[in-house]
Amino acid sequence: MPGFELFGEEERAQVQEVLDSGVLMRYGFDGMRNGHWKARELEIAIAERMQVNRVHLVSSGTAALTVALISAGVGAGDEVIMPTFTFVASFESILAIGAIPILVDVDDTLTLNPKAVENAITAKTKVVMPVHMCGSMADLNALKSICNKHGLLLLEDACQAIGGSYEGKPLGSIGDMGCFSFDYVKTITCGEGGAMITNNKDFYENAHKYSDHGHDHLGNDRGAETHLFLGYNFRISELNAAVGCAQIQRLDEFLSIQERNYTILRRALEEIPQITFRRVPEGGVENYSFLNFFLPNEALTRKVHKALLEAGIDACFYWYDNNWHYYRKWEHLIQKKALAKLPEEVINGLPDYSKADFSVSDQWMGRTISCLVKLSWSQGYVQKRAQKIKEVVLASL
Ligand SMILES: *Cc1c(COP(=O)(O)O)cnc(C)c1O
Repeated sequence: MPGFELFGEEERAQVQEVLDSGVLMRYGFDGMRNGHWKARELEIAIAERMQVNRVHLVSSGTAALTVALISAGVGAGDEVIMPTFTFVASFESILAIGAIPILVDVDDTLTLNPKAVENAITAKTKVVMPVHMCGSMADLNALKSICNKHGLLLLEDACQAIGGSYEGKPLGSIGDMGCFSFDYVKTITCGEGGAMITNNKDFYENAHKYSDHGHDHLGNDRGAETHLFLGYNFRISELNAAVGCAQIQRLDEFLSIQERNYTILRRALEEIPQITFRRVPEGGVENYSFLNFFLPNEALTRKVHKALLEAGIDACFYWYDNNWHYYRKWEHLIQKKALAKLPEEVINGLPDYSKADFSVSDQWMGRTISCLVKLSWSQGYVQKRAQKIKEVVLASL
Protein backbone atom coordinates (compact mmCIF):
# COMPACT_ATOMS: atom_id res chain seq x y z
CA MET A 1 0.00 0.00 0.00
CA PRO A 2 2.49 2.70 1.01
CA GLY A 3 3.21 5.41 -1.57
CA PHE A 4 6.33 6.30 0.39
CA GLU A 5 8.02 3.31 -1.19
CA LEU A 6 8.16 5.11 -4.51
CA PHE A 7 9.20 8.70 -3.76
CA GLY A 8 11.10 10.26 -6.60
CA GLU A 9 11.98 13.36 -8.55
CA GLU A 10 8.37 14.50 -8.88
CA GLU A 11 7.90 14.73 -5.11
CA ARG A 12 11.23 16.53 -4.69
CA ALA A 13 10.49 19.05 -7.42
CA GLN A 14 7.08 19.86 -5.94
CA VAL A 15 8.47 20.42 -2.45
CA GLN A 16 11.35 22.47 -3.83
CA GLU A 17 8.91 24.87 -5.49
CA VAL A 18 7.27 25.53 -2.14
CA LEU A 19 10.60 26.03 -0.40
CA ASP A 20 11.78 28.38 -3.16
CA SER A 21 8.67 30.54 -2.81
CA GLY A 22 8.99 30.47 0.98
CA VAL A 23 5.21 30.32 1.47
CA LEU A 24 4.43 27.24 3.52
CA MET A 25 0.83 28.20 4.25
CA ARG A 26 -2.07 27.44 1.95
CA TYR A 27 -3.87 30.76 2.44
CA GLY A 28 -2.71 34.33 1.81
CA PHE A 29 0.71 35.78 0.90
CA ASP A 30 -0.48 36.03 -2.70
CA GLY A 31 2.36 38.27 -3.84
CA MET A 32 5.13 36.00 -2.56
CA ARG A 33 3.89 32.67 -3.91
CA ASN A 34 5.14 32.71 -7.49
CA GLY A 35 1.78 31.26 -8.43
CA HIS A 36 2.18 28.18 -6.21
CA TRP A 37 -1.03 27.08 -4.52
CA LYS A 38 -0.24 23.43 -3.78
CA ALA A 39 -3.22 22.68 -1.55
CA ARG A 40 -5.57 24.19 -4.13
CA GLU A 41 -3.89 22.29 -6.97
CA LEU A 42 -4.17 19.04 -5.08
CA GLU A 43 -7.86 19.69 -4.34
CA ILE A 44 -8.50 20.23 -8.04
CA ALA A 45 -6.60 17.04 -8.95
CA ILE A 46 -8.50 14.99 -6.37
CA ALA A 47 -11.85 16.43 -7.50
CA GLU A 48 -11.07 15.40 -11.07
CA ARG A 49 -9.82 11.91 -10.21
CA MET A 50 -12.70 11.24 -7.80
CA GLN A 51 -15.38 12.82 -10.01
CA VAL A 52 -16.76 15.16 -7.36
CA ASN A 53 -17.46 18.88 -7.30
CA ARG A 54 -15.78 19.75 -4.01
CA VAL A 55 -12.68 18.68 -2.15
CA HIS A 56 -11.26 20.13 1.02
CA LEU A 57 -7.82 19.14 2.25
CA VAL A 58 -6.99 19.00 5.93
CA SER A 59 -4.14 17.92 8.18
CA SER A 60 -5.08 14.21 8.48
CA GLY A 61 -7.66 11.59 7.66
CA THR A 62 -8.91 11.80 11.23
CA ALA A 63 -9.35 15.56 10.81
CA ALA A 64 -11.19 14.93 7.52
CA LEU A 65 -13.69 12.67 9.30
CA THR A 66 -14.16 15.19 12.12
CA VAL A 67 -14.60 18.08 9.71
CA ALA A 68 -16.98 16.08 7.49
CA LEU A 69 -19.20 15.20 10.45
CA ILE A 70 -19.41 18.69 11.92
CA SER A 71 -19.81 20.27 8.47
CA ALA A 72 -22.91 18.13 7.97
CA GLY A 73 -24.34 19.42 11.25
CA VAL A 74 -23.56 16.39 13.41
CA GLY A 75 -23.00 17.34 17.03
CA ALA A 76 -23.41 16.52 20.71
CA GLY A 77 -25.51 13.43 21.38
CA ASP A 78 -26.06 12.51 17.72
CA GLU A 79 -25.40 8.86 16.90
CA VAL A 80 -23.03 7.74 14.19
CA ILE A 81 -23.07 4.09 13.12
CA MET A 82 -19.59 2.62 12.53
CA PRO A 83 -18.10 -0.88 12.20
CA THR A 84 -16.34 -2.97 14.85
CA PHE A 85 -13.43 -3.45 12.44
CA THR A 86 -11.85 -0.13 11.48
CA PHE A 87 -9.16 2.20 12.82
CA VAL A 88 -9.58 4.09 16.11
CA ALA A 89 -9.93 7.32 14.08
CA SER A 90 -13.56 6.35 13.43
CA PHE A 91 -14.69 6.75 17.03
CA GLU A 92 -12.13 9.47 17.78
CA SER A 93 -13.61 11.74 15.11
CA ILE A 94 -17.15 11.03 16.36
CA LEU A 95 -16.27 11.64 20.01
CA ALA A 96 -14.31 14.78 19.12
CA ILE A 97 -17.56 16.59 18.33
CA GLY A 98 -19.50 15.12 21.26
CA ALA A 99 -21.35 12.59 19.10
CA ILE A 100 -21.84 8.93 19.98
CA PRO A 101 -20.09 6.07 18.14
CA ILE A 102 -22.54 3.18 17.70
CA LEU A 103 -20.55 0.04 16.92
CA VAL A 104 -22.13 -2.44 14.55
CA ASP A 105 -21.13 -5.90 13.31
CA VAL A 106 -19.19 -6.54 10.12
CA ASP A 107 -19.82 -9.44 7.73
CA ASP A 108 -17.76 -11.30 5.14
CA THR A 109 -17.08 -8.00 3.34
CA LEU A 110 -15.14 -7.05 6.53
CA THR A 111 -17.22 -3.87 6.54
CA LEU A 112 -20.64 -2.85 7.88
CA ASN A 113 -23.35 -5.48 7.67
CA PRO A 114 -26.40 -3.61 6.28
CA LYS A 115 -28.90 -5.61 8.37
CA ALA A 116 -26.98 -4.85 11.55
CA VAL A 117 -26.94 -1.18 10.56
CA GLU A 118 -30.69 -1.10 10.16
CA ASN A 119 -31.17 -2.75 13.54
CA ALA A 120 -28.98 -0.11 15.21
CA ILE A 121 -30.92 2.91 13.97
CA THR A 122 -32.62 5.04 16.64
CA ALA A 123 -34.24 8.47 16.71
CA LYS A 124 -30.79 9.90 17.43
CA THR A 125 -29.00 8.35 14.44
CA LYS A 126 -27.65 10.93 11.99
CA VAL A 127 -24.93 9.20 10.00
CA VAL A 128 -23.90 5.78 8.73
CA MET A 129 -20.13 5.60 8.37
CA PRO A 130 -18.90 2.56 6.45
CA VAL A 131 -15.15 2.05 6.50
CA HIS A 132 -13.73 0.50 3.35
CA MET A 133 -11.07 -1.48 5.18
CA CYS A 134 -8.04 -3.07 3.56
CA GLY A 135 -8.79 -2.06 0.00
CA SER A 136 -12.40 -3.15 -0.44
CA MET A 137 -15.79 -1.62 0.14
CA ALA A 138 -19.04 -1.93 2.02
CA ASP A 139 -22.24 -2.88 0.25
CA LEU A 140 -22.95 0.71 -0.70
CA ASN A 141 -26.26 0.23 -2.49
CA ALA A 142 -27.76 -1.49 0.53
CA LEU A 143 -26.40 1.18 2.89
CA LYS A 144 -27.56 3.97 0.62
CA SER A 145 -31.11 2.70 0.51
CA ILE A 146 -31.14 2.34 4.31
CA CYS A 147 -29.91 5.94 4.61
CA ASN A 148 -32.51 7.19 2.16
CA LYS A 149 -35.29 5.32 3.92
CA HIS A 150 -34.36 6.73 7.34
CA GLY A 151 -33.15 10.19 6.29
CA LEU A 152 -29.52 9.55 7.30
CA LEU A 153 -26.24 10.74 5.84
CA LEU A 154 -23.76 8.28 4.32
CA LEU A 155 -20.12 9.14 5.08
CA GLU A 156 -17.58 6.84 3.41
CA ASP A 157 -14.24 6.38 5.13
CA ALA A 158 -12.17 5.46 2.08
CA CYS A 159 -8.81 6.04 3.80
CA GLN A 160 -7.64 2.48 3.05
CA ALA A 161 -9.27 2.06 -0.33
CA ILE A 162 -8.39 5.11 -2.40
CA GLY A 163 -8.71 4.32 -6.09
CA GLY A 164 -11.15 1.45 -5.60
CA SER A 165 -14.56 1.80 -7.20
CA TYR A 166 -18.18 0.69 -6.92
CA GLU A 167 -20.44 0.46 -9.95
CA GLY A 168 -17.91 2.51 -11.85
CA LYS A 169 -17.72 5.32 -9.31
CA PRO A 170 -14.64 6.10 -7.21
CA LEU A 171 -14.95 5.03 -3.56
CA GLY A 172 -15.54 8.11 -1.44
CA SER A 173 -17.72 9.75 -4.10
CA ILE A 174 -20.79 7.57 -3.56
CA GLY A 175 -22.00 8.74 -0.16
CA ASP A 176 -22.94 12.28 0.85
CA MET A 177 -19.30 12.72 1.85
CA GLY A 178 -16.11 10.69 1.61
CA CYS A 179 -12.78 10.90 3.40
CA PHE A 180 -9.22 10.00 2.49
CA SER A 181 -6.03 9.87 4.52
CA PHE A 182 -2.62 10.68 3.12
CA ASP A 183 -0.68 9.66 6.21
CA TYR A 184 2.68 8.00 5.77
CA VAL A 185 1.42 4.44 5.29
CA LYS A 186 -1.46 5.04 2.90
CA THR A 187 -1.51 4.22 -0.84
CA ILE A 188 -0.62 7.81 -1.64
CA THR A 189 0.89 9.99 1.04
CA CYS A 190 1.56 13.62 1.95
CA GLY A 191 3.49 12.69 5.10
CA GLU A 192 0.40 13.81 6.98
CA GLY A 193 -2.82 14.92 5.34
CA GLY A 194 -6.40 14.09 4.54
CA ALA A 195 -9.28 15.11 2.32
CA MET A 196 -13.03 15.38 2.54
CA ILE A 197 -14.86 15.09 -0.78
CA THR A 198 -18.50 15.87 -1.53
CA ASN A 199 -20.98 17.14 -4.07
CA ASN A 200 -22.78 19.08 -1.34
CA LYS A 201 -21.83 22.74 -1.59
CA ASP A 202 -23.03 23.58 1.91
CA PHE A 203 -20.97 20.83 3.53
CA TYR A 204 -17.92 21.98 1.56
CA GLU A 205 -18.45 25.63 2.54
CA ASN A 206 -18.73 24.65 6.18
CA ALA A 207 -15.66 22.41 5.91
CA HIS A 208 -13.17 24.93 4.58
CA LYS A 209 -14.33 27.55 7.05
CA TYR A 210 -14.48 25.28 10.06
CA SER A 211 -11.04 23.82 9.47
CA ASP A 212 -9.48 27.31 9.35
CA HIS A 213 -10.83 28.94 12.55
CA GLY A 214 -14.11 29.89 10.86
CA HIS A 215 -12.45 32.15 8.26
CA ASP A 216 -14.89 32.98 5.46
CA HIS A 217 -12.06 32.99 2.88
CA LEU A 218 -13.51 36.02 1.09
CA GLY A 219 -11.24 38.73 -0.27
CA ASN A 220 -7.46 38.73 0.11
CA ASP A 221 -6.96 40.16 3.58
CA ARG A 222 -7.09 37.31 6.10
CA GLY A 223 -7.18 39.71 9.02
CA ALA A 224 -10.31 41.37 7.69
CA GLU A 225 -12.21 38.14 7.09
CA THR A 226 -15.28 37.46 9.20
CA HIS A 227 -16.26 34.34 11.12
CA LEU A 228 -19.81 33.11 10.88
CA PHE A 229 -19.31 30.28 13.36
CA LEU A 230 -16.74 28.74 15.68
CA GLY A 231 -13.98 26.83 14.00
CA TYR A 232 -10.72 25.05 14.59
CA ASN A 233 -7.35 24.62 12.89
CA PHE A 234 -7.11 21.50 10.76
CA ARG A 235 -5.12 23.13 7.95
CA ILE A 236 -2.69 21.24 5.77
CA SER A 237 0.65 22.90 4.98
CA GLU A 238 1.86 23.63 1.46
CA LEU A 239 4.84 21.33 2.01
CA ASN A 240 2.58 18.37 2.68
CA ALA A 241 0.22 19.28 -0.14
CA ALA A 242 3.17 19.52 -2.55
CA VAL A 243 4.08 15.88 -1.90
CA GLY A 244 0.45 14.98 -2.53
CA CYS A 245 0.46 16.85 -5.87
CA ALA A 246 3.15 14.48 -7.09
CA GLN A 247 1.61 11.36 -5.53
CA ILE A 248 -1.92 11.84 -6.91
CA GLN A 249 -0.46 11.80 -10.42
CA ARG A 250 0.95 8.38 -9.61
CA LEU A 251 -2.18 6.88 -8.07
CA ASP A 252 -3.15 4.85 -11.12
CA GLU A 253 0.42 3.61 -11.55
CA PHE A 254 0.42 2.51 -7.89
CA LEU A 255 -2.95 0.80 -8.28
CA SER A 256 -1.78 -1.22 -11.25
CA ILE A 257 1.33 -2.39 -9.38
CA GLN A 258 -0.87 -3.35 -6.41
CA GLU A 259 -3.26 -5.23 -8.67
CA ARG A 260 -0.42 -7.18 -10.29
CA ASN A 261 1.12 -8.14 -6.94
CA TYR A 262 -2.26 -8.94 -5.37
CA THR A 263 -3.21 -11.18 -8.28
CA ILE A 264 -0.01 -13.22 -8.02
CA LEU A 265 -0.57 -13.77 -4.29
CA ARG A 266 -4.24 -14.59 -4.79
CA ARG A 267 -3.67 -17.12 -7.57
CA ALA A 268 -1.31 -19.05 -5.29
CA LEU A 269 -3.76 -19.09 -2.37
CA GLU A 270 -6.71 -20.01 -4.59
CA GLU A 271 -5.07 -23.41 -5.00
CA ILE A 272 -5.73 -24.16 -1.33
CA PRO A 273 -9.29 -25.46 -0.94
CA GLN A 274 -9.52 -24.51 2.77
CA ILE A 275 -8.98 -20.84 1.98
CA THR A 276 -11.83 -18.50 1.04
CA PHE A 277 -11.61 -14.83 0.24
CA ARG A 278 -13.20 -11.74 1.61
CA ARG A 279 -16.40 -10.94 -0.31
CA VAL A 280 -16.30 -7.90 -2.56
CA PRO A 281 -19.83 -6.54 -3.09
CA GLU A 282 -21.17 -6.90 -6.63
CA GLY A 283 -20.03 -4.00 -8.80
CA GLY A 284 -17.01 -3.33 -6.59
CA VAL A 285 -13.36 -3.14 -7.63
CA GLU A 286 -10.75 -3.28 -4.88
CA ASN A 287 -7.73 -0.99 -4.76
CA TYR A 288 -5.67 -4.13 -4.06
CA SER A 289 -3.81 -2.70 -1.07
CA PHE A 290 -4.32 -5.96 0.90
CA LEU A 291 -5.15 -9.56 0.13
CA ASN A 292 -7.72 -10.67 2.72
CA PHE A 293 -8.67 -14.29 3.25
CA PHE A 294 -10.43 -16.62 5.67
CA LEU A 295 -9.36 -19.94 7.12
CA PRO A 296 -11.91 -22.48 8.36
CA ASN A 297 -11.66 -21.60 12.06
CA GLU A 298 -9.94 -19.39 14.61
CA ALA A 299 -7.45 -22.01 15.82
CA LEU A 300 -6.19 -22.73 12.31
CA THR A 301 -6.01 -19.03 11.52
CA ARG A 302 -3.85 -18.39 14.59
CA LYS A 303 -1.65 -21.31 13.63
CA VAL A 304 -1.19 -20.09 10.05
CA HIS A 305 -0.52 -16.52 11.17
CA LYS A 306 2.13 -17.70 13.63
CA ALA A 307 3.72 -19.92 10.98
CA LEU A 308 3.87 -17.01 8.52
CA LEU A 309 5.65 -14.87 11.10
CA GLU A 310 8.08 -17.66 11.92
CA ALA A 311 8.81 -18.15 8.22
CA GLY A 312 9.80 -14.48 7.98
CA ILE A 313 6.75 -13.41 5.94
CA ASP A 314 6.19 -9.88 7.22
CA ALA A 315 3.14 -7.64 6.85
CA CYS A 316 0.47 -10.33 7.20
CA PHE A 317 -1.95 -9.19 9.89
CA TYR A 318 -4.28 -10.96 12.29
CA TRP A 319 -6.59 -8.04 13.09
CA TYR A 320 -8.59 -10.01 15.65
CA ASP A 321 -5.82 -9.41 18.22
CA ASN A 322 -4.84 -5.95 16.99
CA ASN A 323 -4.81 -2.97 19.40
CA TRP A 324 -5.82 -0.35 16.85
CA HIS A 325 -8.19 -2.00 14.41
CA TYR A 326 -10.64 -4.23 16.25
CA TYR A 327 -13.08 -3.41 19.08
CA ARG A 328 -11.83 -6.21 21.36
CA LYS A 329 -8.70 -4.23 22.26
CA TRP A 330 -10.34 -0.79 22.48
CA GLU A 331 -10.42 -0.86 26.27
CA HIS A 332 -10.09 2.95 26.38
CA LEU A 333 -13.39 3.24 24.51
CA ILE A 334 -15.03 0.36 26.35
CA GLN A 335 -14.05 1.81 29.75
CA LYS A 336 -14.65 5.44 28.66
CA LYS A 337 -11.08 6.35 29.67
CA ALA A 338 -10.67 9.96 28.64
CA LEU A 339 -7.95 12.37 29.69
CA ALA A 340 -10.57 14.68 31.19
CA LYS A 341 -14.33 14.79 31.68
CA LEU A 342 -16.34 13.77 28.62
CA PRO A 343 -19.43 15.73 27.55
CA GLU A 344 -22.63 14.70 29.38
CA GLU A 345 -24.15 13.56 26.07
CA VAL A 346 -21.29 11.11 25.60
CA ILE A 347 -21.29 9.89 29.21
CA ASN A 348 -25.03 9.27 29.04
CA GLY A 349 -25.28 8.14 25.43
CA LEU A 350 -22.30 5.85 24.93
CA PRO A 351 -23.44 2.22 25.09
CA ASP A 352 -21.81 -0.07 27.65
CA TYR A 353 -19.53 -1.88 25.23
CA SER A 354 -18.22 -4.19 27.94
CA LYS A 355 -21.58 -5.96 27.64
CA ALA A 356 -21.88 -5.81 23.85
CA ASP A 357 -22.24 -8.96 21.78
CA PHE A 358 -20.21 -8.74 18.58
CA SER A 359 -19.88 -12.49 18.16
CA VAL A 360 -20.93 -12.19 14.50
CA SER A 361 -17.94 -9.91 13.84
CA ASP A 362 -15.76 -12.28 15.86
CA GLN A 363 -16.80 -15.17 13.61
CA TRP A 364 -15.32 -13.35 10.62
CA MET A 365 -12.41 -11.50 12.15
CA GLY A 366 -11.20 -14.52 14.11
CA ARG A 367 -10.70 -16.29 10.78
CA THR A 368 -9.22 -13.38 8.78
CA ILE A 369 -5.64 -12.84 7.69
CA SER A 370 -4.77 -9.71 5.70
CA CYS A 371 -1.53 -9.54 3.76
CA LEU A 372 -0.29 -6.09 2.82
CA VAL A 373 0.52 -5.63 -0.86
CA LYS A 374 3.64 -3.52 -1.34
CA LEU A 375 4.57 -1.38 -4.32
CA SER A 376 8.31 -1.91 -4.25
CA TRP A 377 8.17 -5.69 -4.77
CA SER A 378 9.43 -6.97 -8.09
CA GLN A 379 7.29 -9.48 -9.95
CA GLY A 380 9.89 -12.17 -9.33
CA TYR A 381 9.92 -11.47 -5.61
CA VAL A 382 6.10 -11.58 -5.38
CA GLN A 383 6.10 -14.95 -7.14
CA LYS A 384 8.56 -16.36 -4.62
CA ARG A 385 6.66 -14.81 -1.76
CA ALA A 386 3.37 -16.27 -3.02
CA GLN A 387 4.94 -19.72 -3.25
CA LYS A 388 6.35 -19.41 0.27
CA ILE A 389 3.02 -18.28 1.73
CA LYS A 390 1.29 -21.19 0.03
CA GLU A 391 3.81 -23.68 1.41
CA VAL A 392 3.56 -22.29 4.93
CA VAL A 393 -0.25 -22.38 4.86
CA LEU A 394 -0.35 -25.94 3.50
CA ALA A 395 2.12 -27.12 6.13
CA SER A 396 -0.09 -25.66 8.89
CA LEU A 397 -3.36 -27.20 7.77
C1 LIG B 1 -5.44 5.95 8.35
C2 LIG B 1 -6.89 5.88 8.61
C3 LIG B 1 -7.63 6.94 9.16
C4 LIG B 1 -7.00 8.16 9.73
O1 LIG B 1 -6.10 8.83 8.95
P1 LIG B 1 -4.90 9.66 9.59
O2 LIG B 1 -4.47 10.48 8.40
O3 LIG B 1 -3.83 8.71 10.03
O4 LIG B 1 -5.45 10.50 10.66
C5 LIG B 1 -8.99 6.80 9.28
N1 LIG B 1 -9.62 5.69 8.90
C6 LIG B 1 -8.95 4.65 8.38
C7 LIG B 1 -9.71 3.44 7.95
C8 LIG B 1 -7.57 4.69 8.24
O5 LIG B 1 -6.92 3.63 7.78
